[in-house]
Amino acid sequence: MVSEDPASQASKGNRGPIGSNANLLGQIAFDAGYVTAEALEECLRLQAKSPAFAPIGLLLLEKGHLTLEQLEDLLRIQKLRFQALSVDPTQGGLFGQIAVRKGWVNLEQLAECLRDQESSAKAGSSLRLGQILLGKKYLTVPQFLEIIRLQNKEVAQCPRCHTFYDTSSASPNTAFGCSSCGNVVRSPA
Ligand SMILES: [Zn+2]
Repeated sequence: MVSEDPASQASKGNRGPIGSNANLLGQIAFDAGYVTAEALEECLRLQAKSPAFAPIGLLLLEKGHLTLEQLEDLLRIQKLRFQALSVDPTQGGLFGQIAVRKGWVNLEQLAECLRDQESSAKAGSSLRLGQILLGKKYLTVPQFLEIIRLQNKEVAQCPRCHTFYDTSSASPNTAFGCSSCGNVVRSPA
């Protein structure tokens, strides 16, 4: 039997920024190196025993495991979101999506090259989308290289659900919450 019903879960989500996702905040605190696993477990046990809903952030603060500055930092990380990138192969994968977002390739050109890629695959050849775009001169060599660079420097992937994020506006090694699964993701270092 599952003891928690969806309604009680939903009401927990409406208690303001602190504790809107208690487990995620604890996870971020651990990931950021602010708390030990023992401190987190202690407070999660306290939270489970507490008759009223007690946000994990406040419990960690009360127990002296977190400073107010650290808690504020964690809440900032928890709220930080970046735009997810589609890596659907029928949309050109990550490479094609970046080319389109940069405005270097339009959707018509992308669709044409994806059709070419499909027919070359049927013929037993495995041309990459980037090679085809280059071959048709839809991309210049510097643009091609820039996309490769962006894939490594400005795209972060959630370690749990593998969603890709456009972190071009983030500083290196910025922690943020995954919009899909809530896991902590970091922009490339
Ligand atoms: Zn995720």
